Amino acid sequence: MPKYNVIALIDCNNFFASCEVLFDPTLAGKPVCVLSNNDGCVVARSNEAKALGVKMGMPYFMAKKQFRGVTYLSGNYARYSEISKRIMTKLYDYTPSVEVYSIDEAFLDLSGTRKLYRCSYEEIIEKIRLDIKNDIGVDVSIGLSYSKTLAKLACEKAKELNKKNPKIGTYKIGYKKIKDELKITTIEDIWGVGFNTASLLRKHYISSAYDFCSQSDAWIKRIMGKVGLDLKYELLGESVSPVNPNEALPKSIQKTLSFANFTSDKNYIINALNYHCHRVCKKLRHHGLKSSVVSIMLRAKDFYVLSTKTTLETPSNSEFEFNLKIKEMFDEIYNPNIIYRSCGVTALKLSNEDAYQMSLFNSERIAKNQKLSDAWDKIEEKFGRSKLHLGTNALG
Ligand SMILES: [Mg+2]
Repeated sequence: MPKYNVIALIDCNNFFASCEVLFDPTLAGKPVCVLSNNDGCVVARSNEAKALGVKMGMPYFMAKKQFRGVTYLSGNYARYSEISKRIMTKLYDYTPSVEVYSIDEAFLDLSGTRKLYRCSYEEIIEKIRLDIKNDIGVDVSIGLSYSKTLAKLACEKAKELNKKNPKIGTYKIGYKKIKDELKITTIEDIWGVGFNTASLLRKHYISSAYDFCSQSDAWIKRIMGKVGLDLKYELLGESVSPVNPNEALPKSIQKTLSFANFTSDKNYIINALNYHCHRVCKKLRHHGLKSSVVSIMLRAKDFYVLSTKTTLETPSNSEFEFNLKIKEMFDEIYNPNIIYRSCGVTALKLSNEDAYQMSLFNSERIAKNQKLSDAWDKIEEKFGRSKLHLGTNALG
């Protein structure tokens, strides 16, 4: 057996719904649904709401007609984020190797902690689960294995078991179990295998994780590239993608530049702000960060500084999202009678990009702007910088 890592995935059950119950204990044991932005659709359901048959993603207007006894609540992002932080902080009591993966999921590298706690890994994860439940009040499922991919698979098992018996909340895939687990896992259920990849593999008569792992390295590499090969080894219990502890994040990212000539020209300054905004966002994306507060600064010829900041609806690293706010802020502090020497854009309150991948919460606009920004990076990669820039009136 090769040297192996022991990796756990902690995933909160019905996270948003659980948070709402924490804030209003009278909701405990009742069907509760949390709605997306602007109350569009259901993004979280308590077990009781699931049992009634409310579906994930169901439009609110349909759900409320069909399921009248359910309490529907507008999502409260700040509330969930706060509880998430408390849970994540608790995880550090067990190991410094914590990778916050999303608002309600984290990977832990527990390798070696067995000696420290003088108990088995199963006992450690059960302790973590009870600790979070008793101290914070949120139910979590924990999967344990040797790679992130297997830990994710184990965590799904833990959730299934939990539905049948609420006392069970953990599951371990040990070496002897790997093969059997892979046989009963369809390729669609493998973490990281999307619809397109799954269809491609099915065309080659590969339907289970086991079938996939039985293919030669050369074949997998030819069909899926290195990603596929990494996946194979992760499924076989080798940690190719180790737990990456979230490093101390930079507090802010700022870009500023003096104008070639002092100016009061509104369009000129907005163009400069847009340019800085792009550089800030590009850097955020490069570091895998998002920002929830953006500020702009105008420096007058006499060095007097005017600045203002604003909070984004959802943490972002898309210039298209930032620009909506920048124009507003600019109008707030710009004075045509002042001559300016420089301007700048700063992204504040930075967070790990993955921790905020709440796609269901993102309005279509946010999702679209994110795609535009990603496309921008690709174009610059191919054709070099400054091929594109946002016009003054863009997205105004
Ligand atoms: Mg969850």
